[in-house]
Amino acid sequence: NNQIKVGIVGYGNLGRGVVSAIQQNTDMKLVGIFTRRSPESISMNQADLNMQHISEVEKYKNEIDVMILCGGSATDLPEQGPKFAKMFNTVDSYDTHAKIPEYFDSVNKAARESGKTSIISVGWDPGLFSINRLMSEAILPKGETYTFWGNGVSQGHSDAIRRIEGVKGAVQYTVPINEAVDRVRSGENPELSTAEKHLRVCYVVSEEGYDQEEIEKEIKTMPNYFAEYKTEVNFITEEELAEKHSSLPHGGFVIRGGESGGENKQIIEFSLKLESNPEFTSSVLVAYARAAHRLNKEGQAGAKSVLEVPPVYLSPKTAAELRRDLL
Ligand code: NAP
Repeated sequence: NNQIKVGIVGYGNLGRGVVSAIQQNTDMKLVGIFTRRSPESISMNQADLNMQHISEVEKYKNEIDVMILCGGSATDLPEQGPKFAKMFNTVDSYDTHAKIPEYFDSVNKAARESGKTSIISVGWDPGLFSINRLMSEAILPKGETYTFWGNGVSQGHSDAIRRIEGVKGAVQYTVPINEAVDRVRSGENPELSTAEKHLRVCYVVSEEGYDQEEIEKEIKTMPNYFAEYKTEVNFITEEELAEKHSSLPHGGFVIRGGESGGENKQIIEFSLKLESNPEFTSSVLVAYARAAHRLNKEGQAGAKSVLEVPPVYLSPKTAAELRRDLL
């Protein structure tokens, strides 16, 4: 049987999403999930999963074609990326944009030494949005590219609010400002400040005995997260937070307004509207796992980003089938 044998490292939102995404791809098979926690302590989204402690992973070196790394970008992946690239072909969703070059170098070094292939920063941003920024810039060198995010939950901003004293629970939505999106779509190519592009809308549950006005002030003045944005703070009950704000929708747009040689206006737009950010990101990871396995079979070792992977490698169909059906 020539199914691609897949492993998962880390069982959070993305790990669970990868389990369900693999089930939609008949050319792939899930071999095992590796976690730093005790495997018995974890409640699984499916009964028959092979959940193993991460210390068992070396035993699977010849059993797994590609390992999907589902750890967090802040502290898990900087360690796990290079570590697993020494043993397996890997795919990950590293999304700390400013540190991608450094992360690429460390994974590339490990993968070159082991002869494995690692595709880094896979997902939608970085990921599908990056590809669209590249394509539209290459096609319309004269122009401006804009990225808008939302309407969606930002985990980082929600966490930042939860760390404030007196906050019991919180969810933060990033919302693109329609007026700005419309101006960009019209081809005006406006200069937009951070505050003119996105609004931050917060739903907060406060602890009893704390002053909501104080909490609101602390949120709105938080440097890097909120201070430079228009921020709206709504206090709600714990029940309402659980009922209305527990899914993780997201999405956004990449738009380039440009001009071709004859000075005609040309607008390129790519958009996503996602009911579940982690499930979608996991689906992208699984398609790129296929690519990592294939690139490695062709001897293309080392790290690659999504920008360096030709689209034909993502599909289970052959190039001839794709030319016939999709070109
Ligand atoms: P998450 O749910 O917090 O999981 C991260 C890791 O934390 C897991 O691998 C797991 O490792 C551990 N973990 C999960 N639940 C836990 C629990 N209840 N108790 C203790 N540990 C737990 O993060 P995520 O939502 O899957 O996102 C992972 C990363 O994906 C994010 O950091 C983000 O950077 C990235 N991302 C990228 C994109 C993109 O478009 N490129 C989109 C979305 C997300 P163990 O099993 O080893 O404990």
